[in-house]
Amino acid sequence: MQNAFNARLTAILRFVPFEHAHLNEIMTIDIRTIPEDQCLAIEGEFEGDICSLSANDAARTTGPLTYKAEASLVSEHLLVRGNFLLPFILTCSRCNNDFRHTVRLSEHSLLVSLEKLTLIDLTDALREDIILALPDFPHCDKGDNTQDCPARGKFQTEETFDPLDPKEVEPKDFSSWGPLDKLKLD
Ligand SMILES: [Zn+2]
Repeated sequence: MQNAFNARLTAILRFVPFEHAHLNEIMTIDIRTIPEDQCLAIEGEFEGDICSLSANDAARTTGPLTYKAEASLVSEHLLVRGNFLLPFILTCSRCNNDFRHTVRLSEHSLLVSLEKLTLIDLTDALREDIILALPDFPHCDKGDNTQDCPARGKFQTEETFDPLDPKEVEPKDFSSWGPLDKLKLD
């Protein structure tokens, strides 16, 4: 039963026309365009969904990837070094408001193995580094726009926690034990 299902799935995948294989979602460099022993300057915007995030993810991309870099060939690898910018909408982990946060990879290097190919896919390497650069706990006061988080300071965290002043702690009132002690004595 399982084998029959797998065979059918393979057949369907094989019949997917090549031009529908999300080519616009892949950022590639044709290494034949890189001059020998030189760098190829690449600059522009990539509109494809490089991060492939789902609608349920706390982060959403909100614009194209802007890049300005140089590509060169280094011992069986494609080296791309430069600046990469991708704007996101993140949800603040304190106040739950959405805010804009641009991931900026500056003077960043991507090294991808050539594997005897001429068209090198940069998407996976770039996606990984961009996702790693996203904050684990997004705070809206650390976004692109300067703003205060409305929920900042509402929760006791290590940064806002005041240790209790021992002088303010009420001394125990032992006098209330008085009648009880008397009772025991009687
Ligand atoms: Zn916030």
